[in-house]
Amino acid sequence: MQISGEEIRKRQRTLKEKTELLKELGLGEELSSAASLIEDKSIRETIERHDDRCSYNACPLNFLSFGLDEKGELLQFRTYIPGDPSRHCTLNRQTREMIYSKLPLVLQELLPNKALSDYEIAEDKKLAAMTPEEREAYLKAKEERFKKYLESAKQPKLKEVSSN
Ligand SMILES: [Zn+2]
Repeated sequence: MQISGEEIRKRQRTLKEKTELLKELGLGEELSSAASLIEDKSIRETIERHDDRCSYNACPLNFLSFGLDEKGELLQFRTYIPGDPSRHCTLNRQTREMIYSKLPLVLQELLPNKALSDYEIAEDKKLAAMTPEEREAYLKAKEERFKKYLESAKQPKLKEVSSN
Protein backbone atom coordinates (compact mmCIF):
# COMPACT_ATOMS: atom_id res chain seq x y z
CA MET A 1 0.00 0.00 0.00
CA GLN A 2 1.34 3.41 -1.04
CA ILE A 3 0.92 6.08 1.59
CA SER A 4 2.82 9.34 1.90
CA GLY A 5 4.72 10.56 4.91
CA GLU A 6 2.39 13.55 5.02
CA GLU A 7 -0.66 11.27 5.18
CA ILE A 8 0.95 9.23 7.95
CA ARG A 9 1.72 12.38 9.90
CA LYS A 10 -1.90 13.56 9.53
CA ARG A 11 -3.28 10.33 10.89
CA GLN A 12 -1.49 10.16 14.21
CA ARG A 13 -3.74 12.47 16.16
CA THR A 14 -5.60 9.95 18.26
CA LEU A 15 -4.70 6.53 19.49
CA LYS A 16 -7.58 5.05 17.45
CA GLU A 17 -6.42 6.78 14.26
CA LYS A 18 -2.94 5.51 14.73
CA THR A 19 -4.07 1.95 15.46
CA GLU A 20 -6.13 1.94 12.25
CA LEU A 21 -3.25 3.36 10.24
CA LEU A 22 -0.90 0.67 11.53
CA LYS A 23 -3.44 -1.99 10.57
CA GLU A 24 -3.76 -0.56 7.05
CA LEU A 25 -0.01 -0.56 6.69
CA GLY A 26 0.02 -4.19 7.77
CA LEU A 27 2.06 -3.37 10.87
CA GLY A 28 1.64 -4.18 14.54
CA GLU A 29 2.53 -1.75 17.28
CA GLU A 30 5.89 -3.44 17.92
CA LEU A 31 8.86 -2.35 15.88
CA SER A 32 9.73 -5.97 15.02
CA SER A 33 6.48 -6.23 13.04
CA ALA A 34 8.16 -3.95 10.50
CA ALA A 35 11.62 -5.50 10.78
CA SER A 36 11.50 -6.91 7.24
CA LEU A 37 11.61 -3.32 5.94
CA ILE A 38 14.97 -2.77 7.60
CA GLU A 39 17.98 -3.77 5.54
CA ASP A 40 20.66 -4.15 8.20
CA LYS A 41 20.51 -7.65 9.71
CA SER A 42 22.23 -6.73 12.98
CA ILE A 43 19.73 -3.93 13.55
CA ARG A 44 16.85 -6.30 12.84
CA GLU A 45 18.22 -8.65 15.49
CA THR A 46 18.62 -5.85 18.03
CA ILE A 47 15.00 -4.82 17.42
CA GLU A 48 13.72 -8.36 17.79
CA ARG A 49 15.65 -8.87 21.03
CA HIS A 50 14.33 -5.56 22.31
CA ASP A 51 10.71 -6.42 21.52
CA ASP A 52 11.11 -9.75 23.31
CA ARG A 53 12.55 -8.20 26.45
CA CYS A 54 11.28 -4.64 26.77
CA SER A 55 7.96 -4.34 28.54
CA TYR A 56 8.25 -0.65 29.32
CA ASN A 57 4.67 0.57 29.06
CA ALA A 58 5.71 3.75 27.28
CA CYS A 59 8.63 2.39 25.29
CA PRO A 60 9.89 5.04 22.82
CA LEU A 61 10.32 2.35 20.15
CA ASN A 62 6.69 1.30 20.31
CA PHE A 63 4.69 2.71 17.40
CA LEU A 64 1.73 3.50 19.63
CA SER A 65 3.65 5.38 22.32
CA PHE A 66 3.49 8.79 20.69
CA GLY A 67 1.33 10.69 18.27
CA LEU A 68 0.57 14.27 17.24
CA ASP A 69 -2.14 16.65 18.40
CA GLU A 70 -4.07 19.10 16.14
CA LYS A 71 -1.17 21.55 16.33
CA GLY A 72 1.37 18.93 15.36
CA GLU A 73 2.79 18.84 18.88
CA LEU A 74 3.95 15.53 20.28
CA LEU A 75 1.77 13.76 22.75
CA GLN A 76 2.19 10.53 24.62
CA PHE A 77 -0.67 8.08 24.20
CA ARG A 78 0.43 5.77 26.95
CA THR A 79 0.77 7.14 30.40
CA TYR A 80 3.32 5.96 32.86
CA ILE A 81 1.85 3.45 35.30
CA PRO A 82 3.28 4.05 38.80
CA GLY A 83 4.86 1.00 40.31
CA ASP A 84 5.45 -0.75 36.99
CA PRO A 85 8.57 -2.88 37.63
CA SER A 86 9.78 -2.47 34.04
CA ARG A 87 9.75 1.28 33.83
CA HIS A 88 12.58 1.71 31.42
CA CYS A 89 13.41 0.64 27.91
CA THR A 90 16.05 -2.09 27.64
CA LEU A 91 17.97 0.03 25.11
CA ASN A 92 19.83 3.22 25.93
CA ARG A 93 19.15 6.50 24.17
CA GLN A 94 22.14 6.20 21.87
CA THR A 95 21.06 2.77 20.59
CA ARG A 96 17.47 3.89 20.15
CA GLU A 97 18.61 6.94 18.16
CA MET A 98 20.85 4.74 16.02
CA ILE A 99 17.95 2.37 15.28
CA TYR A 100 15.73 5.32 14.42
CA SER A 101 18.31 6.71 12.00
CA LYS A 102 18.41 3.39 10.11
CA LEU A 103 14.66 3.11 9.66
CA PRO A 104 13.03 3.73 6.28
CA LEU A 105 11.25 7.09 6.13
CA VAL A 106 7.80 5.53 6.35
CA LEU A 107 8.71 3.98 9.73
CA GLN A 108 10.35 7.17 10.99
CA GLU A 109 7.03 8.96 10.43
CA LEU A 110 5.39 6.42 12.72
CA LEU A 111 7.80 7.29 15.54
CA PRO A 112 7.38 11.08 15.74
CA ASN A 113 9.15 11.06 19.11
CA LYS A 114 12.30 9.98 17.19
CA ALA A 115 12.67 7.04 19.58
CA LEU A 116 12.95 9.32 22.61
CA SER A 117 11.01 8.97 25.83
CA ASP A 118 8.67 11.58 27.23
CA TYR A 119 11.26 12.37 29.91
CA GLU A 120 14.08 12.77 27.37
CA ILE A 121 11.98 15.10 25.21
CA ALA A 122 11.10 17.24 28.25
CA GLU A 123 14.76 17.37 29.31
CA ASP A 124 15.86 18.38 25.79
CA LYS A 125 13.32 21.22 25.78
CA LYS A 126 14.48 22.38 29.21
CA LEU A 127 18.14 22.34 28.13
CA ALA A 128 17.41 24.16 24.87
CA ALA A 129 15.88 27.07 26.80
CA MET A 130 18.98 27.54 28.99
CA THR A 131 22.07 29.68 28.50
CA PRO A 132 25.34 27.72 28.12
CA GLU A 133 26.28 28.58 31.75
CA GLU A 134 22.91 27.48 33.10
CA ARG A 135 23.12 24.30 31.08
CA GLU A 136 26.54 23.45 32.45
CA ALA A 137 25.41 24.04 36.06
CA TYR A 138 22.22 22.04 35.50
CA LEU A 139 24.02 19.05 33.99
CA LYS A 140 26.65 19.12 36.72
CA ALA A 141 24.01 19.17 39.47
CA LYS A 142 22.18 16.33 37.74
CA GLU A 143 25.35 14.26 37.55
CA GLU A 144 25.97 14.89 41.27
CA ARG A 145 22.45 13.81 42.13
CA PHE A 146 22.88 10.66 40.06
CA LYS A 147 26.20 9.86 41.79
CA LYS A 148 24.58 10.32 45.19
CA TYR A 149 21.72 8.12 44.11
CA LEU A 150 24.12 5.38 42.99
CA GLU A 151 26.00 5.64 46.30
CA SER A 152 22.84 5.32 48.34
CA ALA A 153 21.49 2.50 46.19
CA LYS A 154 24.68 0.46 46.45
CA GLN A 155 24.37 -2.61 48.61
CA PRO A 156 27.42 -3.67 50.66
CA LYS A 157 27.62 -6.99 48.80
CA LEU A 158 27.85 -5.18 45.46
CA LYS A 159 30.81 -3.02 46.48
CA GLU A 160 33.55 -5.11 44.89
CA VAL A 161 31.60 -5.39 41.62
CA SER A 162 31.54 -1.63 41.09
CA SER A 163 35.06 -0.79 42.35
CA ASN A 164 36.09 0.80 39.05
ZN1 LIG B 1 11.90 -0.41 24.87
